[in-house]
Amino acid sequence: MVFYILIFGILAVVAVVAFFVLRGRERGEMRELRSKTSHTGAGHVRAPIPDHAAPQRHEAPPKESPPSGGLFRKEGLGAKVKHLFVHGANDATWSQLEDILLKADVGPTGSADLVGRIRSGYTSGADPVGLLTSEIETVLGPDLPLELPAGRPGIVLVVGVNGTGKTTTIGKLAKRLVSEGKQVSLAAADTFRAAAAEQLEVWATRAGARIVGQERGADPGAVVFDAVHSASAKHEDVLIVDTAGRLHTKTPLMDELTKLKRVIEKAGGQVDETLLVLDAQTGQNGIAQARAFTDAVEVTGVVLTKTDGSAKGGIVLAVREELGVPVRFVGVGEGADDLRPFEARLFAERLLSS
Ligand code: GDP
Ligand code: GDP
Ligand code: MG
Repeated sequence: MVFYILIFGILAVVAVVAFFVLRGRERGEMRELRSKTSHTGAGHVRAPIPDHAAPQRHEAPPKESPPSGGLFRKEGLGAKVKHLFVHGANDATWSQLEDILLKADVGPTGSADLVGRIRSGYTSGADPVGLLTSEIETVLGPDLPLELPAGRPGIVLVVGVNGTGKTTTIGKLAKRLVSEGKQVSLAAADTFRAAAAEQLEVWATRAGARIVGQERGADPGAVVFDAVHSASAKHEDVLIVDTAGRLHTKTPLMDELTKLKRVIEKAGGQVDETLLVLDAQTGQNGIAQARAFTDAVEVTGVVLTKTDGSAKGGIVLAVREELGVPVRFVGVGEGADDLRPFEARLFAERLLSS
């Protein structure tokens, strides 16, 4: 008898300790998510961009935050929200809703904004999932497809941290444009990374695009200069410029990208779109890195890659709210056809459908 009481007692103590440890961890995690507050515009701290040598081609991108389920995973956001509102809403409900959104990678600004919007529109008995869907769509704004000029080559500059999927995205985008009947050329202005031009060349062949490049280590400015000239001479429709993710020199990122833009103009061209490629799996850390680029160049749109992997869909809202730029395309795999134009309504519905 004493033996059983002893065993029972030990189990009870273990259970209580485990409860408090888990709760403490959960609270720490929420504190961290909330503290990552950041705003667009001047005055915020710029994320450091390392200027050391870039990793090689097939190395996995840095994953600082562990993935926690697929973008549209089974135990989804919709189910959680529905569950939260079964007995209506009180103050605790709104704070819990904010936590759920933070955990889905929506980011502090976006989460607070969404909760405020739903709170003001909510009446007892209303469908919280329906409300959230509409508000997400509103926050994301109208879909903005890529618009390129006619009569001269439209120029798309592609920027982003190494390994996010720039080259792959360029290949997919080129294929898409070629299939629409456009003549496309690609400028291999990432002259630093080993085999970067070769990788782009493989994509050019696959897509039916022309490639302009020079030997490794060449001046990226010289590559784009030639590329703009030849695209104009050949009356091509689109020129897409691949850039190096990290700098091999001490030149600040801003200077390098501004210089590329200036050279394009000197060669008689004009940058129509600057697409920032962002890996959905890097979550809020990816947002911090991306901010350095939105500070350096006028980013007109984001391509969110690897949404097929274990990422949380809320990152799309964080891009809109924290970086202030629209998502234009999403990468849904490594294949040539795995690039989709971003559609806010579809995104909101799928995010909350499970
Ligand atoms: P870059 O350094 O930014 O040019 O990145 P790369 O284009 O070389 O891509 C890095 C890795 O990410 C490659 O292995 C790609 O196949 C992979 N990748 C790029 N986009 C996607 C995507 O949408 N989904 C998946 N699963 N992998 C992707
Ligand atoms: P800088 O390097 O800061 O003086 O910037 P520039 O605008 O003068 O040129 C940047 C790079 O673009 C140069 O290093 C060249 O590689 C290339 N470039 C600029 N102008 C020309 C040109 O007239 N012809 C060619 N082929 N390349 C040019
Ligand atoms: Mg690349």
